Amino acid sequence: MQQVDCLGQDIQVTEGQTCQQVLSQALSGKKFKQSVACLCNGRLLDLKAKVPPDCGQIEPVFIHSEQGLEILRHSAAHVMAEAVKKLFPTAKVTIGPAIENGFYYDFDFERSFTPEDLEQIEKVMSESIEADLPFERQELSRDQARKFFSRINETYKLELLDEMEDDQVSIYTHDQFTDLCRGPHLPSTGHIQAFKLTSVAGAYWRGDENRPMLQRIYGTAFADPKALKAYLAHLEEARKRDHRRLGPQLDLFSFSDEVGPGMPIFHPNGALVRTILEDFETKEHLRRGYQLVRGPQLLRRDLWQKSGHYQNYGHNMYFSEIDEQVYGLKPMNCVAHMIIYKSSLRSYRDLPIRYFELGTVHRHEKSGVLHGLLRVRQFTQDDAHIICRPEQLQEEITGIIRFVQDIMNVFDFEFEVELSTRPEKSIGSDQDWDRATTALHQALDSMDMQYAINAGDGAFYGPKIDVKLKDALDRTWQCATIQCDFTLPQRFDLSYIGSDGEKHRPVMVHRTILGAIERFMGVLIEHYAGALPTWLAPVQAVLVTVTEAHNDFAAQCAQELHHAGIRVQTDLRNEKLGFKVREAQLSKIPYILVIGDREVQEQVVNIRFRNGQQIGAKSISATVDMIQTDCQEPFNRGGMRYSFTN
Ligand SMILES: [Zn+2]
Ligand SMILES: [Zn+2]
Repeated sequence: MQQVDCLGQDIQVTEGQTCQQVLSQALSGKKFKQSVACLCNGRLLDLKAKVPPDCGQIEPVFIHSEQGLEILRHSAAHVMAEAVKKLFPTAKVTIGPAIENGFYYDFDFERSFTPEDLEQIEKVMSESIEADLPFERQELSRDQARKFFSRINETYKLELLDEMEDDQVSIYTHDQFTDLCRGPHLPSTGHIQAFKLTSVAGAYWRGDENRPMLQRIYGTAFADPKALKAYLAHLEEARKRDHRRLGPQLDLFSFSDEVGPGMPIFHPNGALVRTILEDFETKEHLRRGYQLVRGPQLLRRDLWQKSGHYQNYGHNMYFSEIDEQVYGLKPMNCVAHMIIYKSSLRSYRDLPIRYFELGTVHRHEKSGVLHGLLRVRQFTQDDAHIICRPEQLQEEITGIIRFVQDIMNVFDFEFEVELSTRPEKSIGSDQDWDRATTALHQALDSMDMQYAINAGDGAFYGPKIDVKLKDALDRTWQCATIQCDFTLPQRFDLSYIGSDGEKHRPVMVHRTILGAIERFMGVLIEHYAGALPTWLAPVQAVLVTVTEAHNDFAAQCAQELHHAGIRVQTDLRNEKLGFKVREAQLSKIPYILVIGDREVQEQVVNIRFRNGQQIGAKSISATVDMIQTDCQEPFNRGGMRYSFTN
């Protein structure tokens, strides 16, 4: 006899009883049906597991909970693997974990799976779910498992077995499919009420490009069909907003195999948007007391050794030789800024010094992780290094956070803040860490900022603040980071002469606001679904004529708009008006100005927005006012004094 606590109830357990039997006594019928696994003293177990003798407490895991969904999704991966093996017996199974919002399974198969294959696989999965087959766990020795998987020729499982440390392993079987797995799983396949296979991608075994290329099938599963439907709608919306589609469609940027992966090419529209962003940022930095600097792309390897980048980051850097000297292409902008600081003797009165650079860096990202503009090998950071006296740190951090706030307001982004503290392995004295971490806390507190603390998640060289923005689809994106650094001032022996006439070590902060400009543009494109706000739109207005008879007036209007600093185009093609308007809408041009007989006669334009809304006729000067007010609006909203004039 054993006494187990389950949701506050004491339940008597006899030997051999399962967790499921305990739950059936503690839960109502409905709740019992929704439980798919349990926690025994905090350890996840199958419902069919026998209550462990040392177990004092059992908690149900409901299918709607985070853990429940993970079990559901992982179990769905088993069901998918079973279906694939049924349809394509030569496919070999590898691994199939649950991931955020879904699951995948990697197969070694001679060709890519097609959308038609996915349909077939879904069909077979549905049959398996319909049959409500139980998942059965079996424990066996590693040797027995090896014999089993070698008999069915699942060589990847053998490799996984070789890496395991335990002598005892578990396998799970449903129907005729058996997988090496730790579990837990759903009691039976019938619990998978809503699933969908979403895509196929190539993936290297173990993420290693020297290993075989596998076929990864992604899917998703939810506790009920309604949740699945909402998620699929969300996916569809994300697909429509995907910057990799919209970028080329709006002629903003492209990638080319000829150029190389991860190297974005900005077309006129994209380069213009980028320049507007960069100009805005440059002006804002100058207004806040930053100085513009610019370092070289290539710096000698010795310098990268001195900074520590060579030892810690060298594997992600590109090197080249000039006159028998090895040079490294910069992966970060810090080093040149240190050299500038050291170029003269600094007094306490000179501090803080804030160096700002739109610094282009190169990093060797693995080809598998490259993703449109979001993950590239060459990018430009809005990077700054602040060198200050220790007692100035808090005020500097406050200034940076206010800066972030102002910029996020302009784009109407909400954001979340995280503070990461000292990790186990770190350099710098206790005093350094305490002072810097306190400064970060106090800066955030003084601004009444809500923030999460990631204990022990700071860089080894100092504590940091990360800012994550939330886009229109509620996705979060890392943008600003603020990092204190105790190593670089030491490695470069930075100093200033204090009021006491002695040499002191300054504090150094690395910070970005937008992060990488490329990445931020990718996020903006998805956030606005390509319809950039008027101040950022590469073309702000297009004049569309009904017939040739209106061309002269259109040219005259174009000139006036152009003189007012508005980026304007004309569409004088001999096409139907509806066609021309639709094209302008697809190009996401904010103002579509239609000119026909009446407009020429009354010397006005007929204004439409890209979303189809019709404003009606306005004179050119009223149109200019409207567009300029629209451009100014984001800055007024943020309470910024920034004036958007060209
Ligand atoms: Zn499993
Ligand atoms: Zn830096």
